[in-house]
Parts: sequence; structure tokens; C-alpha cells
Amino acid sequence: MTYAGPEDTARATRTGGVPLVPPGFEWPACGECGLPMRFIAQLRLDELAEQGPKGSAEGSGTLAVWMCQNDPGMCDEWDPDSGGNTARLFPAEAALTAAEPPQGETLVAASSGIAYQQVEADNYDEARGSWAESRGVSPRQVLGAWGGEPSWLQGEEVPECPACDRRMSFAAQLEEGHDHEAELGFGGGGCGYAFFCAPCGEAAFLWQC
Ligand SMILES: [Zn+2]
Ligand SMILES: [Zn+2]
Repeated sequence: MTYAGPEDTARATRTGGVPLVPPGFEWPACGECGLPMRFIAQLRLDELAEQGPKGSAEGSGTLAVWMCQNDPGMCDEWDPDSGGNTARLFPAEAALTAAEPPQGETLVAASSGIAYQQVEADNYDEARGSWAESRGVSPRQVLGAWGGEPSWLQGEEVPECPACDRRMSFAAQLEEGHDHEAELGFGGGGCGYAFFCAPCGEAAFLWQC
């Protein structure tokens, strides 16, 4: 996934902007501080099997992620279980532009549309480095990757589905962002990891740095 210019409201996979949601949606509040969380990404899971390497999970609909940024570092927002972030699976038809809550840090300063690149490499880090080098651009232009295996910055941390207790399927890895305004807040140089359980309709998010 590479940076493809701002993309505030499209149905596409992107970071930032305003989420597209189903009817009856309520903006998620942080389980720690109670304030509305910041929308950071929506991932079109139908693109996972198309754009991810062989063996990537298959999904449908959209995986949307919120993370508390009201007092960064204070709500355990890296943790999949703290309540400081949340990930939801929405049906593909979810197309209502969510109403932004009147208070709290709710939107990323700049959105990022995603372009896809296929790179021959042994792993994500190698692909990220070689793509940037071949274009003569900063590796920060690479915004993450679909599927395959997570490239963990710390120890392996695949969440278990809260409904069926099985290991969740890996959807995507997300970088901080291509510049300061687009940064998602993973502790400076961290990566986010999004997971889902298709049969249960559950999703989870965590980050490491
Ligand atoms: Zn909070
Ligand atoms: Zn499950």
C-alpha cells in the first residue's frame, strides 16, 4: 500500500477522512476515558484476497478502526483489549458518511488514499525498502500491506476472537503515515495490525513500536 493523495470520503481503502458506516451507527467512545475516539482507517476486505500475497485470508465488507487520541499514551490505545481502540466489521453496503461528534479528537488531520504495488520480496520490510529505493522516495510513502504474515516490531501478538476464541485472520499492517498530518499515532515509527474473524463478524486492532 502506497500513498495516493488525500481521500476524505471515498468508499475506498484509506486512512483518515470520515468513515462510511451503516444505519444506526454510533461513533465509538473510548473504554478508558469515555471520550469519542479518532477514526483512523477503513479497509475494504474484498481487496485482501486480490491484493495480499497467496494465503491471505478472504473477507468482505469493511474493517473500520478507531483509536483514542484524546490524551495519547494514557488509554492503552495500543492494546486490542483495553477499550482504547476498537475495530468493527461493516457490510459492503455501509455508505453513510458518519456525523462527527462535537467533542474529542475524532479525525486525523489529513487523509491518505491507497495505491497498490506488487513487489517481489521475501517479506514486507524488504518489499517496503526496495520499492522506495527503486522509486527514489522515502519509505514513508509506503503505508502498509495487506494480508500474508504480519511483520511484528515486537513479539507475535495475534488476538483471539472474543466470540469463538480462535486466532483471528490477519487483514493488514498500517504504517504511521507519509507525513506529520497523516500520522495515525503509533508511538512514532510504530505499526498497526488489523485482524478479523469472518464467521463471527468480529475485528481487532493493536499496534507496536
Ligand atoms: Zn481514551
Ligand atoms: Zn470468531
